[in-house]
Amino acid sequence: RGRSDSKNTADRSSVHKDGKGNVLVSVRIRPEVGTGDSKQELDWDINGKRSLVSYKGREGGDYYYDNVFDTQDNNARVYDAAAKRLVRRVMEGYHGTVFAYGMTGTGKTFSMQGTATNPGVIPLAITDIFSYIRETPHREFLLRVSYLEIYNEKIHDLLAGPVATGLNGQPAAQEEIKLREDSKRGVYATPLKEEIVQSPTQLLRVIARGDNARRVAGTQFNVRSSRSHAVVQIVVESRERVPGGVASLKESKRSAMVPGGVRVSTLSLIDLAGSEKAADNKERRTEGSHINKSLLTLGTVIARLSSDKDKSGSDKDKASKDKHLPYRDSKLTRLLQPALSGNSLVSILCTIQIGSSGSIAAAHSHTGETLNTLKFASRAKNNIVSHAKKVDESLGSGADAGSRALLDRYRMEIQ
Ligand code: ADP
Ligand code: MG
Repeated sequence: RGRSDSKNTADRSSVHKDGKGNVLVSVRIRPEVGTGDSKQELDWDINGKRSLVSYKGREGGDYYYDNVFDTQDNNARVYDAAAKRLVRRVMEGYHGTVFAYGMTGTGKTFSMQGTATNPGVIPLAITDIFSYIRETPHREFLLRVSYLEIYNEKIHDLLAGPVATGLNGQPAAQEEIKLREDSKRGVYATPLKEEIVQSPTQLLRVIARGDNARRVAGTQFNVRSSRSHAVVQIVVESRERVPGGVASLKESKRSAMVPGGVRVSTLSLIDLAGSEKAADNKERRTEGSHINKSLLTLGTVIARLSSDKDKSGSDKDKASKDKHLPYRDSKLTRLLQPALSGNSLVSILCTIQIGSSGSIAAAHSHTGETLNTLKFASRAKNNIVSHAKKVDESLGSGADAGSRALLDRYRMEIQ
């Protein structure tokens, strides 16, 4: 009988409340297509305090998560339980990261993007962001969005126009986008287009443009999308609104009159490559699939976080711990480093599918993909510990003079 994750005692109601504690991990079970007795391989109980998934195959066992979404649950339910609170915290000044992990065809994109009648995490987050802005008249907001894709360890800017396809179906050369880090912005990609958006419709349109660029890039869209990581980042800047309006003040007095300074936080919404590419197994390699370095490194980092678990919590220990984790081995882990090392609220949505003949999931099930996903989710739950703090509000941190000027210009436009 496999191990039971009895250590995993986090009470889901407290997760994401104050930025501390384990990350929120949810498992979503995709409705089956075709035949098959779903409960033969897997059983689940979503009514208990901690949601349980029992895997009955070889090496099986009981796994506990914050949420298990049944085949009946729609995207709104998933969003409410797995992302809503995190999105609110981002509006209040925490960094937040939501990512979908699972093998191809299990519902990552369905969960993140959804459909017109069943909108996913991204559009629901956008609705909430603008509701929050409306409900918070004493602050003014500036929203910027970027959308990048990591494919074959290269970063593509999906808002820079269609990704041109060169010979052999490979993307043609774009200006190389690099990851940089500084104390103000954390890890960021540059040069990367960021668009200022002022309404939900406009934000959705920008993201749709990115999706389209992604689609145009590959004649084999399905292959590419199953091998690439799509990262939407929404940067939220805000500050106290000055009674009477900043515009009426003399330029020289502005900063002195602004009480709290500018707060800058980022919401990252990530649709990962299919996890079947992460399995480092010989059989797969002889099939000719590429091993996805980013996903493989993500698994390694998360697994190693535990053996290095920072017991003292001191910054010095954390810094030395971060040094020997292989964040820099891949673009994805480098980009996610702040989140994985605890500076961000994190919600991981793991998707699985069962009992479906003829699907990709069924084709891979003999290699234990479902079990791999359950284990990944369990390790993430136990190993990633958040000690996220609200971002510093001083004028010096985060926003520079340029973005303060933008906020001034922009303040009357978002309503
Ligand atoms: P992935 O992004 O993980 O490769 P998709 O999100 O593209 O998988 O899902 C594969 C197919 O299954 C799509 O046609 C999608 O509409 C459908 N699907 C996925 N999850 C669900 C769900 N929970 N309910 C209904 N259909 C789903
Ligand atoms: Mg997808």
